[in-house]
Amino acid sequence: MEKIQNYIGGELKAPISGNYLDNVEPATGKVYSRIPESGEADLELAVEAAEAAASYWANTSLENRSAILSKVADLIDSNADELARAEAVDNGKPVNFAKAVDIYRASANIRFFAHAITQFSSESHGMGDIAVNYTLRDPIGVVGCISPWNFPLYLFTWKIAPALAAGNTVIAKPSEITPMTAYLFSKLCIEAGLPDGVLNVLHGTGASIGAPITTHPAIKAISFTGGSSTGAAITKATAGQFKKLSLELGGKNPTLVFADCDFEETVNEVARAAFANQGQICLCGSRIYIERDIYDKFRDALVERVEQIRIGDPLDGATQHGALVSKGHMEKVLSYIELARDEGGTIATGGQRRTLEGRCAEGYFVEPTLIEGLDNQCRTNQEEIFGPVATLQPFDSDGEAVNLANGTRYGLAASVWSRDIKRCHNVARQIDAGIVWVNCWLLRDLRTPFGGVKSSGVGREGGLEALRFFTEPKNVCIKY
Ligand code: NAD
Repeated sequence: MEKIQNYIGGELKAPISGNYLDNVEPATGKVYSRIPESGEADLELAVEAAEAAASYWANTSLENRSAILSKVADLIDSNADELARAEAVDNGKPVNFAKAVDIYRASANIRFFAHAITQFSSESHGMGDIAVNYTLRDPIGVVGCISPWNFPLYLFTWKIAPALAAGNTVIAKPSEITPMTAYLFSKLCIEAGLPDGVLNVLHGTGASIGAPITTHPAIKAISFTGGSSTGAAITKATAGQFKKLSLELGGKNPTLVFADCDFEETVNEVARAAFANQGQICLCGSRIYIERDIYDKFRDALVERVEQIRIGDPLDGATQHGALVSKGHMEKVLSYIELARDEGGTIATGGQRRTLEGRCAEGYFVEPTLIEGLDNQCRTNQEEIFGPVATLQPFDSDGEAVNLANGTRYGLAASVWSRDIKRCHNVARQIDAGIVWVNCWLLRDLRTPFGGVKSSGVGREGGLEALRFFTEPKNVCIKY
Protein backbone atom coordinates (compact mmCIF):
# COMPACT_ATOMS: atom_id res chain seq x y z
CA MET A 1 0.00 0.00 0.00
CA GLU A 2 1.35 3.41 -0.98
CA LYS A 3 2.98 5.39 1.83
CA ILE A 4 2.73 9.14 1.45
CA GLN A 5 5.90 11.00 2.46
CA ASN A 6 6.77 14.39 3.88
CA TYR A 7 8.74 16.86 1.74
CA ILE A 8 11.55 18.42 3.79
CA GLY A 9 14.69 20.18 2.58
CA GLY A 10 14.01 19.13 -1.02
CA GLU A 11 13.64 15.41 -0.20
CA LEU A 12 10.73 13.04 0.32
CA LYS A 13 11.03 11.64 3.85
CA ALA A 14 9.26 9.19 6.14
CA PRO A 15 8.09 10.57 9.51
CA ILE A 16 10.78 10.25 12.19
CA SER A 17 8.42 8.32 14.51
CA GLY A 18 7.71 5.77 11.76
CA ASN A 19 3.99 6.14 12.55
CA TYR A 20 1.37 6.23 9.80
CA LEU A 21 -2.39 6.77 9.71
CA ASP A 22 -4.89 5.10 7.38
CA ASN A 23 -6.09 7.04 4.36
CA VAL A 24 -9.60 6.00 3.29
CA GLU A 25 -11.21 6.31 -0.14
CA PRO A 26 -14.63 7.78 0.75
CA ALA A 27 -16.44 6.32 -2.27
CA THR A 28 -15.56 2.77 -1.16
CA GLY A 29 -14.91 3.11 2.57
CA LYS A 30 -11.62 1.23 2.10
CA VAL A 31 -8.12 2.17 3.25
CA TYR A 32 -6.00 2.75 0.15
CA SER A 33 -2.84 4.52 1.36
CA ARG A 34 -0.97 5.54 4.50
CA ILE A 35 -0.28 9.04 5.85
CA PRO A 36 2.77 10.05 7.92
CA GLU A 37 1.83 11.04 11.45
CA SER A 38 4.42 13.77 11.69
CA GLY A 39 5.35 15.41 14.97
CA GLU A 40 7.64 17.98 16.54
CA ALA A 41 10.86 16.23 15.46
CA ASP A 42 9.76 16.43 11.79
CA LEU A 43 8.80 20.06 12.34
CA GLU A 44 12.30 20.86 13.65
CA LEU A 45 13.84 19.39 10.49
CA ALA A 46 11.46 21.41 8.33
CA VAL A 47 12.13 24.65 10.25
CA GLU A 48 15.89 24.08 9.90
CA ALA A 49 15.49 23.56 6.14
CA ALA A 50 13.18 26.57 5.74
CA GLU A 51 15.48 28.84 7.76
CA ALA A 52 18.51 27.70 5.76
CA ALA A 53 16.73 28.54 2.48
CA ALA A 54 15.14 31.82 3.64
CA SER A 55 17.85 34.31 2.72
CA TYR A 56 18.62 32.64 -0.62
CA TRP A 57 14.94 32.58 -1.65
CA ALA A 58 14.24 36.13 -0.42
CA ASN A 59 17.14 37.34 -2.57
CA THR A 60 16.32 35.25 -5.62
CA SER A 61 15.34 37.67 -8.38
CA LEU A 62 11.64 38.16 -9.04
CA GLU A 63 12.14 36.80 -12.55
CA ASN A 64 13.62 33.55 -11.22
CA ARG A 65 11.02 33.08 -8.51
CA SER A 66 8.32 33.75 -11.07
CA ALA A 67 9.86 31.34 -13.59
CA ILE A 68 10.09 28.47 -11.08
CA LEU A 69 6.50 28.97 -9.93
CA SER A 70 5.31 29.11 -13.54
CA LYS A 71 7.10 25.80 -14.15
CA VAL A 72 5.24 24.25 -11.19
CA ALA A 73 1.95 25.51 -12.72
CA ASP A 74 2.90 24.00 -16.09
CA LEU A 75 3.60 20.66 -14.42
CA ILE A 76 0.18 20.72 -12.74
CA ASP A 77 -1.37 21.26 -16.19
CA SER A 78 0.58 18.45 -17.80
CA ASN A 79 -0.36 16.08 -14.94
CA ALA A 80 -3.96 17.30 -14.66
CA ASP A 81 -5.58 13.92 -15.38
CA GLU A 82 -3.54 12.09 -12.77
CA LEU A 83 -4.09 14.85 -10.19
CA ALA A 84 -7.85 15.00 -10.85
CA ARG A 85 -8.16 11.25 -10.44
CA ALA A 86 -6.12 11.36 -7.23
CA GLU A 87 -8.37 14.13 -5.87
CA ALA A 88 -11.51 12.17 -6.77
CA VAL A 89 -10.22 9.03 -5.04
CA ASP A 90 -8.96 10.88 -1.95
CA ASN A 91 -11.89 13.26 -1.48
CA GLY A 92 -14.89 11.54 -3.11
CA LYS A 93 -15.63 14.43 -5.49
CA PRO A 94 -16.54 13.72 -9.14
CA VAL A 95 -13.42 13.42 -11.28
CA ASN A 96 -14.65 15.88 -13.92
CA PHE A 97 -15.41 18.45 -11.25
CA ALA A 98 -11.93 17.91 -9.77
CA LYS A 99 -10.32 18.51 -13.15
CA ALA A 100 -12.40 21.57 -14.06
CA VAL A 101 -12.32 23.23 -10.65
CA ASP A 102 -9.67 21.90 -8.25
CA ILE A 103 -6.80 21.19 -10.59
CA TYR A 104 -7.51 23.98 -13.04
CA ARG A 105 -7.64 26.49 -10.18
CA ALA A 106 -4.53 25.11 -8.48
CA SER A 107 -2.42 25.85 -11.54
CA ALA A 108 -4.27 29.17 -12.08
CA ASN A 109 -3.42 30.23 -8.49
CA ILE A 110 0.26 29.52 -8.92
CA ARG A 111 0.48 31.16 -12.33
CA PHE A 112 -1.46 34.19 -11.06
CA PHE A 113 0.95 34.81 -8.16
CA ALA A 114 3.98 34.05 -10.34
CA HIS A 115 2.87 37.00 -12.48
CA ALA A 116 1.46 39.20 -9.70
CA ILE A 117 4.74 39.38 -7.82
CA THR A 118 6.44 40.92 -10.84
CA GLN A 119 3.83 43.72 -10.75
CA PHE A 120 3.72 44.23 -6.98
CA SER A 121 4.69 47.74 -5.89
CA SER A 122 4.58 49.65 -2.64
CA GLU A 123 3.57 53.12 -1.61
CA SER A 124 5.39 56.43 -1.38
CA HIS A 125 4.10 59.40 0.63
CA GLY A 126 5.55 62.82 -0.09
CA MET A 127 5.51 65.56 2.62
CA GLY A 128 5.89 68.63 0.41
CA ASP A 129 9.41 70.05 0.64
CA ILE A 130 10.04 68.45 4.04
CA ALA A 131 10.50 64.71 3.45
CA VAL A 132 9.49 61.64 1.51
CA ASN A 133 8.35 58.29 2.88
CA TYR A 134 8.55 55.03 1.03
CA THR A 135 7.34 51.62 2.11
CA LEU A 136 9.52 48.57 1.77
CA ARG A 137 7.73 45.22 1.65
CA ASP A 138 10.11 42.44 2.60
CA PRO A 139 9.34 38.74 2.93
CA ILE A 140 8.47 37.74 6.50
CA GLY A 141 10.78 34.70 6.65
CA VAL A 142 9.41 31.26 7.51
CA VAL A 143 5.61 31.08 7.33
CA GLY A 144 3.04 28.33 8.00
CA CYS A 145 0.14 27.41 5.69
CA ILE A 146 -2.59 25.04 6.93
CA SER A 147 -5.41 23.93 4.65
CA PRO A 148 -8.65 21.87 4.79
CA TRP A 149 -9.98 18.85 2.89
CA ASN A 150 -12.72 20.26 0.68
CA PHE A 151 -10.45 21.60 -2.10
CA PRO A 152 -7.25 19.81 -1.13
CA LEU A 153 -4.78 20.98 -3.80
CA TYR A 154 -6.60 24.16 -4.75
CA LEU A 155 -6.66 25.65 -1.23
CA PHE A 156 -3.15 24.34 -0.51
CA THR A 157 -1.81 26.32 -3.49
CA TRP A 158 -4.04 29.30 -2.68
CA LYS A 159 -1.78 29.91 0.35
CA ILE A 160 1.55 28.53 -0.77
CA ALA A 161 1.65 30.44 -4.07
CA PRO A 162 1.52 34.00 -2.64
CA ALA A 163 3.77 33.03 0.28
CA LEU A 164 6.47 31.70 -2.05
CA ALA A 165 6.01 34.43 -4.66
CA ALA A 166 6.56 37.07 -1.94
CA GLY A 167 9.90 35.42 -1.07
CA ASN A 168 9.03 33.50 2.09
CA THR A 169 9.95 29.93 2.81
CA VAL A 170 6.98 27.78 3.77
CA ILE A 171 6.00 24.95 6.06
CA ALA A 172 2.67 23.65 4.82
CA LYS A 173 0.23 21.12 6.22
CA PRO A 174 -2.57 19.70 4.10
CA SER A 175 -5.57 18.06 5.72
CA GLU A 176 -4.88 14.56 7.02
CA ILE A 177 -8.20 13.55 5.46
CA THR A 178 -7.05 14.39 1.91
CA PRO A 179 -3.22 14.34 1.77
CA MET A 180 -2.60 12.71 -1.61
CA THR A 181 -2.42 15.64 -4.03
CA ALA A 182 -0.15 17.63 -1.69
CA TYR A 183 2.20 14.64 -1.85
CA LEU A 184 2.02 14.51 -5.66
CA PHE A 185 2.55 18.28 -5.68
CA SER A 186 5.75 17.86 -3.61
CA LYS A 187 7.09 15.61 -6.38
CA LEU A 188 6.21 18.24 -9.00
CA CYS A 189 8.06 20.91 -7.00
CA ILE A 190 11.18 18.73 -7.03
CA GLU A 191 10.77 18.21 -10.79
CA ALA A 192 10.34 21.97 -11.33
CA GLY A 193 13.62 22.69 -9.55
CA LEU A 194 12.17 24.53 -6.55
CA PRO A 195 15.28 25.05 -4.37
CA ASP A 196 15.62 22.75 -1.35
CA GLY A 197 13.89 23.93 1.80
CA VAL A 198 11.83 26.66 0.11
CA LEU A 199 8.66 24.59 0.52
CA ASN A 200 8.32 21.90 3.17
CA VAL A 201 5.19 19.76 3.43
CA LEU A 202 4.38 17.96 6.66
CA HIS A 203 1.53 15.46 6.89
CA GLY A 204 -0.38 14.52 10.03
CA THR A 205 -3.28 15.52 12.24
CA GLY A 206 -4.12 18.94 13.64
CA ALA A 207 -2.96 17.80 17.08
CA SER A 208 0.27 16.07 16.01
CA ILE A 209 1.60 18.66 13.56
CA GLY A 210 -0.94 21.47 12.90
CA ALA A 211 -0.87 22.91 16.42
CA PRO A 212 2.97 22.69 16.73
CA ILE A 213 3.33 24.59 13.42
CA THR A 214 1.11 27.41 14.70
CA THR A 215 3.07 27.89 17.93
CA HIS A 216 6.64 27.32 16.69
CA PRO A 217 8.58 30.52 17.48
CA ALA A 218 10.51 30.49 14.18
CA ILE A 219 7.27 30.57 12.15
CA LYS A 220 6.29 34.22 11.94
CA ALA A 221 2.94 34.11 10.16
CA ILE A 222 0.14 31.57 9.83
CA SER A 223 -2.32 31.41 7.01
CA PHE A 224 -5.11 29.03 8.00
CA THR A 225 -8.26 27.82 6.23
CA GLY A 226 -10.63 25.55 8.13
CA GLY A 227 -13.38 25.51 10.71
CA SER A 228 -14.22 28.47 12.97
CA SER A 229 -13.59 26.45 16.14
CA THR A 230 -10.10 25.50 14.89
CA GLY A 231 -9.50 29.16 14.02
CA ALA A 232 -10.46 30.08 17.59
CA ALA A 233 -8.08 27.41 18.96
CA ILE A 234 -5.22 28.80 16.84
CA THR A 235 -5.96 32.36 18.00
CA LYS A 236 -5.78 31.23 21.65
CA ALA A 237 -2.69 29.07 21.16
CA THR A 238 -0.74 31.88 19.49
CA ALA A 239 -1.89 34.68 21.81
CA GLY A 240 1.15 36.53 23.09
CA GLN A 241 3.39 35.40 20.24
CA PHE A 242 2.40 38.36 18.02
CA LYS A 243 2.32 36.33 14.82
CA LYS A 244 0.54 37.55 11.75
CA LEU A 245 -2.63 35.47 11.37
CA SER A 246 -4.91 35.12 8.37
CA LEU A 247 -7.97 33.02 9.19
CA GLU A 248 -10.41 31.83 6.53
CA LEU A 249 -13.18 30.06 8.43
CA GLY A 250 -16.66 28.60 8.15
CA GLY A 251 -19.80 29.90 6.49
CA LYS A 252 -23.60 29.60 6.56
CA ASN A 253 -24.23 31.55 3.43
CA PRO A 254 -27.58 33.07 2.42
CA THR A 255 -29.03 32.91 -1.09
CA LEU A 256 -31.63 35.64 -1.67
CA VAL A 257 -34.12 34.93 -4.46
CA PHE A 258 -36.41 37.82 -5.44
CA ALA A 259 -39.63 37.41 -7.43
CA ASP A 260 -38.17 39.39 -10.36
CA CYS A 261 -35.19 37.04 -10.86
CA ASP A 262 -34.46 35.27 -14.14
CA PHE A 263 -36.41 32.20 -13.01
CA GLU A 264 -34.83 29.34 -14.97
CA GLU A 265 -31.27 30.53 -14.57
CA THR A 266 -31.78 31.19 -10.87
CA VAL A 267 -33.19 27.71 -10.24
CA ASN A 268 -30.15 26.13 -11.89
CA GLU A 269 -27.61 28.33 -10.16
CA VAL A 270 -29.22 28.13 -6.72
CA ALA A 271 -29.09 24.33 -7.01
CA ARG A 272 -25.42 24.51 -7.99
CA ALA A 273 -24.65 26.97 -5.17
CA ALA A 274 -26.22 24.63 -2.62
CA PHE A 275 -24.86 21.28 -3.81
CA ALA A 276 -21.62 21.71 -5.80
CA ASN A 277 -18.84 19.56 -4.34
CA GLN A 278 -21.57 17.75 -2.32
CA GLY A 279 -22.27 21.02 -0.49
CA GLN A 280 -18.76 20.96 0.93
CA ILE A 281 -17.69 24.46 -0.12
CA CYS A 282 -17.33 27.17 2.48
CA LEU A 283 -19.16 29.44 -0.03
CA CYS A 284 -22.16 27.15 -0.67
CA GLY A 285 -25.54 28.82 -0.26
CA SER A 286 -27.14 26.67 2.44
CA ARG A 287 -29.90 29.09 3.54
CA ILE A 288 -32.18 29.83 0.58
CA TYR A 289 -34.60 32.74 1.10
CA ILE A 290 -37.34 33.08 -1.51
CA GLU A 291 -39.74 36.01 -1.95
CA ARG A 292 -43.16 34.73 -0.88
CA ASP A 293 -44.89 35.54 -4.21
CA ILE A 294 -42.87 32.87 -5.99
CA TYR A 295 -42.07 30.58 -3.03
CA ASP A 296 -44.17 27.55 -4.06
CA LYS A 297 -43.30 27.76 -7.74
CA PHE A 298 -39.59 28.20 -7.02
CA ARG A 299 -39.53 25.40 -4.43
CA ASP A 300 -41.17 22.97 -6.86
CA ALA A 301 -38.80 23.88 -9.69
CA LEU A 302 -35.78 23.64 -7.41
CA VAL A 303 -36.84 20.23 -6.10
CA GLU A 304 -37.28 19.01 -9.69
CA ARG A 305 -33.82 20.34 -10.62
CA VAL A 306 -32.14 18.84 -7.56
CA GLU A 307 -33.69 15.44 -8.20
CA GLN A 308 -31.95 15.40 -11.60
CA ILE A 309 -28.45 15.59 -10.00
CA ARG A 310 -26.67 12.32 -10.83
CA ILE A 311 -25.24 10.62 -7.74
CA GLY A 312 -22.55 8.06 -8.50
CA ASP A 313 -19.00 6.76 -8.45
CA PRO A 314 -16.65 9.78 -8.39
CA LEU A 315 -14.50 8.08 -11.04
CA ASP A 316 -17.43 7.88 -13.49
CA GLY A 317 -17.28 10.87 -15.85
CA ALA A 318 -21.10 11.20 -15.79
CA THR A 319 -21.30 11.63 -12.00
CA GLN A 320 -22.34 15.05 -10.69
CA HIS A 321 -22.58 14.27 -6.97
CA GLY A 322 -19.97 12.05 -5.32
CA ALA A 323 -19.26 10.83 -1.80
CA LEU A 324 -18.87 12.92 1.32
CA VAL A 325 -15.29 13.09 2.49
CA SER A 326 -15.38 10.65 5.43
CA LYS A 327 -17.61 8.37 7.45
CA GLY A 328 -17.46 10.78 10.40
CA HIS A 329 -18.49 13.70 8.22
CA MET A 330 -21.33 11.71 6.61
CA GLU A 331 -22.62 10.83 10.09
CA LYS A 332 -22.44 14.49 11.11
CA VAL A 333 -24.44 15.55 8.04
CA LEU A 334 -27.06 12.80 8.58
CA SER A 335 -27.36 13.84 12.23
CA TYR A 336 -28.19 17.40 11.11
CA ILE A 337 -30.94 16.06 8.83
CA GLU A 338 -32.35 14.24 11.87
CA LEU A 339 -32.05 17.43 13.90
CA ALA A 340 -33.94 19.35 11.20
CA ARG A 341 -36.78 16.80 11.43
CA ASP A 342 -36.79 17.14 15.23
CA GLU A 343 -36.90 20.92 14.89
CA GLY A 344 -40.08 20.61 12.82
CA GLY A 345 -38.60 20.74 9.31
CA THR A 346 -40.16 18.98 6.33
CA ILE A 347 -37.88 17.25 3.83
CA ALA A 348 -38.76 18.58 0.36
CA THR A 349 -36.30 16.20 -1.32
CA GLY A 350 -33.46 13.88 -0.31
CA GLY A 351 -32.81 13.31 3.37
CA GLN A 352 -31.18 9.89 3.16
CA ARG A 353 -27.86 8.12 2.82
CA ARG A 354 -27.69 6.71 -0.73
CA THR A 355 -26.41 3.16 -1.18
CA LEU A 356 -24.82 2.43 -4.55
CA GLU A 357 -24.11 -0.92 -6.13
CA GLY A 358 -20.73 -2.49 -6.92
CA ARG A 359 -17.41 -0.83 -6.07
CA CYS A 360 -19.09 2.00 -4.11
CA ALA A 361 -21.50 -0.13 -2.03
CA GLU A 362 -19.85 0.99 1.23
CA GLY A 363 -19.30 4.62 0.16
CA TYR A 364 -20.36 7.73 2.06
CA PHE A 365 -23.08 9.09 -0.25
CA VAL A 366 -25.84 11.43 0.97
CA GLU A 367 -28.66 12.72 -1.22
CA PRO A 368 -28.90 16.44 -1.96
CA THR A 369 -31.43 17.52 0.64
CA LEU A 370 -33.82 20.49 0.78
CA ILE A 371 -35.69 21.23 4.01
CA GLU A 372 -38.49 23.72 4.61
CA GLY A 373 -40.67 24.85 7.50
CA LEU A 374 -37.86 25.86 9.89
CA ASP A 375 -37.37 29.25 11.50
CA ASN A 376 -34.16 31.24 11.20
CA GLN A 377 -33.07 30.73 14.81
CA CYS A 378 -33.08 26.93 14.90
CA ARG A 379 -29.73 25.09 15.00
CA THR A 380 -30.21 23.75 11.46
CA ASN A 381 -30.22 27.35 10.22
CA GLN A 382 -27.52 28.62 12.56
CA GLU A 383 -24.79 25.95 12.48
CA GLU A 384 -22.53 25.10 9.57
CA ILE A 385 -23.44 21.63 8.24
CA PHE A 386 -20.95 21.68 5.35
CA GLY A 387 -22.75 19.03 3.36
CA PRO A 388 -25.56 18.61 0.79
CA VAL A 389 -28.24 20.16 2.99
CA ALA A 390 -29.99 23.48 2.38
CA THR A 391 -33.08 25.06 3.88
CA LEU A 392 -35.85 27.13 2.24
CA GLN A 393 -37.61 30.08 3.89
CA PRO A 394 -40.01 32.70 2.49
CA PHE A 395 -39.62 36.47 2.96
CA ASP A 396 -41.90 39.45 2.26
CA SER A 397 -39.64 42.49 1.84
CA ASP A 398 -36.06 43.49 1.01
CA GLY A 399 -35.50 44.53 4.62
CA GLU A 400 -36.69 41.19 5.95
CA ALA A 401 -34.47 39.35 3.46
CA VAL A 402 -31.40 41.30 4.62
CA ASN A 403 -32.23 40.69 8.30
CA LEU A 404 -32.66 36.96 7.72
CA ALA A 405 -29.42 36.84 5.71
CA ASN A 406 -27.50 38.63 8.47
CA GLY A 407 -29.04 36.56 11.25
CA THR A 408 -26.18 34.14 11.97
CA ARG A 409 -22.72 34.46 13.50
CA TYR A 410 -21.15 33.81 10.08
CA GLY A 411 -20.42 36.29 7.29
CA LEU A 412 -18.49 34.70 4.47
CA ALA A 413 -20.50 34.98 1.26
CA ALA A 414 -24.00 35.63 -0.09
CA SER A 415 -25.75 35.59 -3.44
CA VAL A 416 -28.58 37.87 -4.59
CA TRP A 417 -30.89 36.99 -7.50
CA SER A 418 -32.94 39.85 -8.99
CA ARG A 419 -33.25 41.87 -12.21
CA ASP A 420 -33.69 45.13 -10.29
CA ILE A 421 -30.22 46.71 -10.33
CA LYS A 422 -31.06 49.28 -7.66
CA ARG A 423 -32.22 46.56 -5.28
CA CYS A 424 -29.11 44.48 -6.01
CA HIS A 425 -26.80 47.35 -5.05
CA ASN A 426 -28.79 48.15 -1.91
CA VAL A 427 -29.04 44.57 -0.70
CA ALA A 428 -25.36 43.80 -1.47
CA ARG A 429 -24.32 46.88 0.51
CA GLN A 430 -26.32 45.81 3.58
CA ILE A 431 -25.29 42.18 3.77
CA ASP A 432 -22.64 41.31 6.37
CA ALA A 433 -20.29 39.23 4.25
CA GLY A 434 -16.84 39.39 2.68
CA ILE A 435 -18.20 38.42 -0.74
CA VAL A 436 -21.60 39.11 -2.36
CA TRP A 437 -22.42 37.61 -5.74
CA VAL A 438 -25.24 39.19 -7.76
CA ASN A 439 -26.92 36.92 -10.34
CA CYS A 440 -23.96 34.55 -10.16
CA TRP A 441 -22.17 32.32 -7.69
CA LEU A 442 -18.53 31.25 -7.36
CA LEU A 443 -17.47 33.51 -10.19
CA ARG A 444 -13.91 34.29 -9.12
CA ASP A 445 -11.42 36.89 -10.25
CA LEU A 446 -8.13 36.07 -8.56
CA ARG A 447 -7.32 39.78 -8.10
CA THR A 448 -10.25 40.36 -5.73
CA PRO A 449 -10.12 40.20 -1.91
CA PHE A 450 -11.36 36.91 -0.47
CA GLY A 451 -12.47 36.25 3.10
CA GLY A 452 -15.19 36.68 5.67
CA VAL A 453 -16.44 38.81 8.54
CA LYS A 454 -17.81 37.85 12.00
CA SER A 455 -17.00 34.18 12.76
CA SER A 456 -16.06 33.54 9.12
CA GLY A 457 -12.56 34.91 9.47
CA VAL A 458 -10.00 37.58 10.02
CA GLY A 459 -8.06 39.22 7.19
CA ARG A 460 -8.33 38.79 3.45
CA GLU A 461 -6.57 36.57 0.94
CA GLY A 462 -6.53 36.89 -2.84
CA GLY A 463 -4.62 39.17 -5.17
CA LEU A 464 -2.55 41.93 -3.63
CA GLU A 465 -4.17 41.30 -0.23
CA ALA A 466 -2.33 37.98 -0.05
CA LEU A 467 0.98 39.53 -1.11
CA ARG A 468 0.50 42.23 1.54
CA PHE A 469 -0.20 39.58 4.18
CA PHE A 470 2.94 37.65 3.28
CA THR A 471 5.21 40.73 3.41
CA GLU A 472 6.27 42.98 6.25
CA PRO A 473 5.86 46.69 5.48
CA LYS A 474 8.56 49.08 6.67
CA ASN A 475 8.25 52.85 6.27
CA VAL A 476 11.46 54.74 5.50
CA CYS A 477 11.21 58.50 6.09
CA ILE A 478 13.89 60.70 4.46
CA LYS A 479 14.15 64.39 5.32
CA TYR A 480 15.17 66.60 2.43
P1 NAD B 1 -10.55 21.86 10.29
O1 NAD B 1 -10.53 23.16 11.00
O2 NAD B 1 -10.95 20.65 11.04
O3 NAD B 1 -9.10 21.53 9.70
C1 NAD B 1 -8.43 22.40 8.81
C2 NAD B 1 -6.93 22.12 8.92
O4 NAD B 1 -6.48 22.50 10.22
C3 NAD B 1 -6.54 20.65 8.75
O5 NAD B 1 -5.32 20.58 8.05
C4 NAD B 1 -6.37 20.20 10.19
O6 NAD B 1 -5.53 19.10 10.35
C5 NAD B 1 -5.77 21.43 10.82
N1 NAD B 1 -5.96 21.56 12.27
C6 NAD B 1 -6.90 20.98 13.04
N2 NAD B 1 -6.74 21.38 14.33
C7 NAD B 1 -5.68 22.22 14.35
C8 NAD B 1 -5.04 22.97 15.38
N3 NAD B 1 -5.46 22.94 16.65
N4 NAD B 1 -4.00 23.75 15.05
C9 NAD B 1 -3.58 23.82 13.77
N5 NAD B 1 -4.14 23.13 12.75
C10 NAD B 1 -5.19 22.34 13.05
O7 NAD B 1 -11.44 22.08 9.01
P2 NAD B 1 -11.84 20.99 7.91
O8 NAD B 1 -12.88 20.09 8.52
O9 NAD B 1 -10.63 20.42 7.30
O10 NAD B 1 -12.52 21.93 6.81
C11 NAD B 1 -13.85 22.31 6.84
C12 NAD B 1 -13.99 23.73 7.35
O11 NAD B 1 -13.18 24.62 6.58
C13 NAD B 1 -15.40 24.26 7.21
O12 NAD B 1 -15.74 24.97 8.38
C14 NAD B 1 -15.31 25.20 6.03
O13 NAD B 1 -16.27 26.24 6.00
C15 NAD B 1 -13.94 25.76 6.21
N6 NAD B 1 -13.42 26.32 4.95
C16 NAD B 1 -13.29 27.67 4.87
C17 NAD B 1 -12.84 28.24 3.68
C18 NAD B 1 -12.67 29.72 3.55
O14 NAD B 1 -12.02 30.15 2.62
N7 NAD B 1 -13.24 30.53 4.44
C19 NAD B 1 -12.50 27.41 2.61
C20 NAD B 1 -12.66 26.04 2.73
C21 NAD B 1 -13.12 25.50 3.93
